[in-house]
Amino acid sequence: MCGIVAYFGRKHAQPILIEGLKRLEYRGYDSAGVALLEKGAFNITKTPGRISALEENLPEYESDSTVGIGHTRWATHGQPNQINAHPHVDYTGKIALVHNGIIENYATLKKWLIKEGCAFQSETDTEVVANLIGYFYDKNQDRNGRFAPKDCNRFEWAVQQALSEIYGTYGMAILCVDCPDMMIGVKKGSPLILGVGKNEYIIASDASAIVQHTTQAIYLSDGEMAIIDSDGFYTKTITNKEVQKELKEIEISLDQIELEGFDHYMQKEIAEQPVSLETCLNGRVDVKNGRIILGGVSQYLRELTRTKRIILTACGTAWHAGLVGEFLFEQLARIPAEVEYASEFRYRNPILEEGTVVIAISQSGETADTLAAIEQARDRGALVLGVVNVVGSSIARLTDAGVYLRVGPEIGVASTKAFTAQVAVLSMLAIELGRRRHLSTDAVQSLLRELMEIPAKIKRILAQTDYIRQIAQANKDHENWLFLGRGFNYPVALEGALKLKEISYIHAEGLPAAEMKHGPIALITDRMPAVFVATRCSQYEKIIGNIEEVRARGGKTIVVATEGDEHIKPYADHLITVPETCDQLQPLLTVVPLQILAYHAAVLRGHDVDKPRNLAKSVTVE
Ligand code: GLU
Repeated sequence: MCGIVAYFGRKHAQPILIEGLKRLEYRGYDSAGVALLEKGAFNITKTPGRISALEENLPEYESDSTVGIGHTRWATHGQPNQINAHPHVDYTGKIALVHNGIIENYATLKKWLIKEGCAFQSETDTEVVANLIGYFYDKNQDRNGRFAPKDCNRFEWAVQQALSEIYGTYGMAILCVDCPDMMIGVKKGSPLILGVGKNEYIIASDASAIVQHTTQAIYLSDGEMAIIDSDGFYTKTITNKEVQKELKEIEISLDQIELEGFDHYMQKEIAEQPVSLETCLNGRVDVKNGRIILGGVSQYLRELTRTKRIILTACGTAWHAGLVGEFLFEQLARIPAEVEYASEFRYRNPILEEGTVVIAISQSGETADTLAAIEQARDRGALVLGVVNVVGSSIARLTDAGVYLRVGPEIGVASTKAFTAQVAVLSMLAIELGRRRHLSTDAVQSLLRELMEIPAKIKRILAQTDYIRQIAQANKDHENWLFLGRGFNYPVALEGALKLKEISYIHAEGLPAAEMKHGPIALITDRMPAVFVATRCSQYEKIIGNIEEVRARGGKTIVVATEGDEHIKPYADHLITVPETCDQLQPLLTVVPLQILAYHAAVLRGHDVDKPRNLAKSVTVE
């Protein structure tokens, strides 16, 4: 969740660490710190708050150290204050580390270490790891009193001993003052990448902190470690078995992670959607022959076509995409489908009959709950597919097969272009399964034609940005909003409400429009805007009825309707229109004005949209 960046090379480490931490800011954090290895000691600066605060606290002279570790923390154990910020140093002062993840058995280990005489400074779980490594390093003995083998490197050995005691998840970069020519990276359950440059190495939790220096990288798998020394680097398992890793090309470019004139990444990513969707659809839609080509899952299409049940599992925005997926698989492929919150699914001892297919959706491919849900599904023998954006991510590697979104890095914490691409991928999959099961060629071709027109139609919605901004201006001071939709626009109502909550801190509820009568209607006043997603689709007449119910009670309405719909005009205090498309593809269009509305409401309320309070981009802890 937090960010790790560590440098080992010939350049001054400090500016590289700070720059890297800035690149990782989008992931969400509450405090930050750096440790530079300098003249046999650690030079540490850490502070709660932003990287800018960390910069202000750095020593005035720029350290000439060429080895260092940096961290942005998203607190799980202990308040986000200076003491709890990383890096953490062990009780001997020899080991320093940064950690992303959670050490589940930290309390037991801490008790034992205190009994052994180790002092603790912080409330974090992470400090236990620093002390544990320090303890084994110091004693040069394992827990059974056996000495470290003579021919091994003691630092590396101590790290392995410590990891063998730990339960939980981690990505870590570790230094030892006695070994200034060494840096160790370890990974289990949290992302960690080793960037390999010319005479320099960067360990980071995210490729965006590496790509400025090199595009060559090693993607560590769970249970692996990378050891960098003056001769280069080598990789092994944390149980000391050698592993050979392939150098891979990082597939993101620097301009993809720059703002390029936009005020915020979220704004840039909303605006990118015509292009990102085109890239997502490119080469996958064959309108002429009425087919979809999804190379990543082609070998499982037979199994998928015959499946009796599809379970989609995800969290947050991806769950909303999954709900659209549920409707798509039911309507187009006539396959029973249901979407599950990964966090609930993983603990429910779910029943998966033979032949069930599980589809896991995650932008980052690192979402901890979704990863755990995948493990559940695999243990029960289900075929598991991934719909993921980040190439080479844990979910991409853990699933049997999958489809990449291909939308480039999504940096805005509030997901936008990943949502539309997730829906597009699920649409393609559902259409292809429908074709294989019962849909006529004509029906498939017409759906595909509609799908291919979506990017240009989104462009037309984006052209209304200024107008939508005015609507945001008129309503931004209302503290409670409702978002209502029916059918395929019901998940969009949920997503619209989530977007507004995430970045503007306005309380918003998304509901199937007809549910309003069963309770929430009691809330309606002229101070609670009701956003209706009411495009011309199969439930159009019904939703008009719901709008009337709100207006009859003095409620204000913001209505997203189909272009040219004159009939709906009198029902809307504010009317936003989207181009026409078929029922099933509505979400790809109707979500866009709601993204724009949320973005501007947040900006007008004075919030930093890319650093929303308490949120992290990819939730890599439970
Ligand atoms: N669990 C650690 C802490 O609370 C690391 C949290 C993180 O991933 O940032 O310090």
